[in-house]
Amino acid sequence: MKGQVGKILRVDLNQKSTSTIDTSEYEEWIGGHGLATALFFDLVEDKAISGFNPKNTLVIAPGLLAGTLAPATNRTEMVGIQAQSYPTEWFTRTNIGGRFGALLKYAGFDAITLEGAAEEPTWLNIIDGEVEFEDATGIWGLNTFESQEIIFDEVSGSKGYGGWIDTNNGRKTTQRPSVLAIGPAGENQSRIGVIMTDGGSAFGQGGFGGVWGSKNLKAISVLGTGSVEVADPEELMKTRLWAENYGWDDEDPYEEYKWLNYITSHFGGQPGPHWASYADQKRSHGCYSCHMGCRPKTASGGSNEAICTEASYYTGYDAEAHGEITEISGQVTNLVEKLGINSFEGPLGYVLYLHDEGVLGKGKEIEADIPFEEVGEYEFAEVLLNKIAYREGIGDDLAEGLPRAAEKWGRLEQDLATGDLPQMFWGYPQHYDARTETYWGYASIIGGRDVNCHDFNVPAYWMPTLDITAGRTPPISAEQTAAIIAEKTGWEDPDVFNFSTDKLYSTDMAKVTDWLFKYTRFWKQSCGMCDNAYADFINPYSPDEMKGLTPEGEMKMFKAVTGEDLTFSDTLEIGRKMWNLDRSILVLQGRTREDEDFPDYVYDVPAEGPYYMPVKEDGEWKYKDVCPRNLDREKVKEWKTKYYELAGWNKETGKPTRSTLEELGLEYVADELEDKGKI
Ligand code: SF4
Repeated sequence: MKGQVGKILRVDLNQKSTSTIDTSEYEEWIGGHGLATALFFDLVEDKAISGFNPKNTLVIAPGLLAGTLAPATNRTEMVGIQAQSYPTEWFTRTNIGGRFGALLKYAGFDAITLEGAAEEPTWLNIIDGEVEFEDATGIWGLNTFESQEIIFDEVSGSKGYGGWIDTNNGRKTTQRPSVLAIGPAGENQSRIGVIMTDGGSAFGQGGFGGVWGSKNLKAISVLGTGSVEVADPEELMKTRLWAENYGWDDEDPYEEYKWLNYITSHFGGQPGPHWASYADQKRSHGCYSCHMGCRPKTASGGSNEAICTEASYYTGYDAEAHGEITEISGQVTNLVEKLGINSFEGPLGYVLYLHDEGVLGKGKEIEADIPFEEVGEYEFAEVLLNKIAYREGIGDDLAEGLPRAAEKWGRLEQDLATGDLPQMFWGYPQHYDARTETYWGYASIIGGRDVNCHDFNVPAYWMPTLDITAGRTPPISAEQTAAIIAEKTGWEDPDVFNFSTDKLYSTDMAKVTDWLFKYTRFWKQSCGMCDNAYADFINPYSPDEMKGLTPEGEMKMFKAVTGEDLTFSDTLEIGRKMWNLDRSILVLQGRTREDEDFPDYVYDVPAEGPYYMPVKEDGEWKYKDVCPRNLDREKVKEWKTKYYELAGWNKETGKPTRSTLEELGLEYVADELEDKGKI
């Protein structure tokens, strides 16, 4: 298939050997998540192993459109058995931007498998189809920024920016390699260790930094000078120019569409300094091929290229201590990234809660030698984060992630009951709230992590809530929003997008959840489309009355790159196949219906608003603050039955049925489930 470059690189870390597979053997799996998961399924015989088991093969695969001119499509997936989720280390996915995906394809590979574990610290040096196993002893212990810089120099021969590098096939490039690297947290096998690239992109969720540490894998560097052949380059360029019509309009719509500051799942998101209010943010920066450039560059280098939870990691504490956000926030963000710690897991809130309760601190029940009098200052974060990265004192517990730390301290049950430990899905921190955006919660518990797909989150929450709480009228009514989304998803009935309390356990909410999996598995996780840009449902810059470019844009890009004549429904069906393969792996790991549940606080403690969402009550559509709201235990059980039936799974157990798997061409998967007594 055009868009694929032809080879999958197999890396045996233990034997220091490589081999390749023709991508054509896996063509139907597209790229990214689909390709990576199909490889994982075939290569890992026993899927019920720990993430730290050397037989846990990790697979890295750029999306199908990565390395082309399709806008905001250079995302790369990694799959494998994670270290982060609690209580079970589920098979899961994580995703990264930057330049890595494009350069890997330019080097000739659609995917890399990381098999076994190296005996000594190792980094991989991939240049135009050739792979070297390099000794990482000299960089083991260095942080993620230092490691990248040293590898840049080794690969490029210490040439400065703009200097030509000779690759191994007589070609030249001025591009610097893209380097994925772990820091001390990963080396010390933290379950909240990440893998960083460039200034602010990371394989953040899943604790895969710790898994790399267990494999003695410090870094992967890739440099490629090839290209990705596309079916119709002219059409692809036309599509990119056409898509500009949906991009941000710099005629200053900033005030009117303030909610666009939050650019997730929105093709018209604005570039620039809006993730955190640092005075030194200077210009926008983007991942390869991206028109949005959502990653601010800073003059000081503090918080460079960081967005979202990384950029805001310390801003609240900093502002409280100093009356404003200062450069300390940027310095702390840098420290998190250098040490390679997952900023989203950030334990600050829970540690401070336990300290305020009088149970954590120097000489307290939970011993912690941390300068609490310095909260908001750099020194507090420095001490705490270094303890986590190097597993010193209380940091050894926190490096295991908050649920395991709380369990060790005897606090888990009580703090999950009150919500003082707000770990909502498999021990992941509460993100969007199952009590309000219930589909998000459902998708997270039937998957293996916080689902983190914002497709419906902007029109269902951010858009109405930001405007209404600021005293403005949203640019589109609840009724129009539901109608546009029904049209674009193919649901036809707008009532599917009704978030009133009496719809929380409905088949419609199962449809929302199901569509999210099918769309994101194919388009975002396998084609490489960025969650910040897609799906584009509601778009105030649209030439078509607020209607975003989904699905027309995705289809135009896919057709231009591959030349394949698929319908949008076909792509969702392939996404369904990918999701069923994921689900089968979870079942092989031992997943049961009973496992799929929320912690007690979701049922017993109402969520607090404001949380404005589209609702239809007494025949009238409106945006309404749905809080206070909590879920009902028995009705969640009923919802699971509805979802399992909709997905074609056994409604009692949640396991995919043989007939569903065979219908999807996954007979061999059904056979493995049957062999293991799981179907
Ligand atoms: S929107 Fe931001 S994170 Fe996504 S591809 Fe563009 S620059 Fe990267």
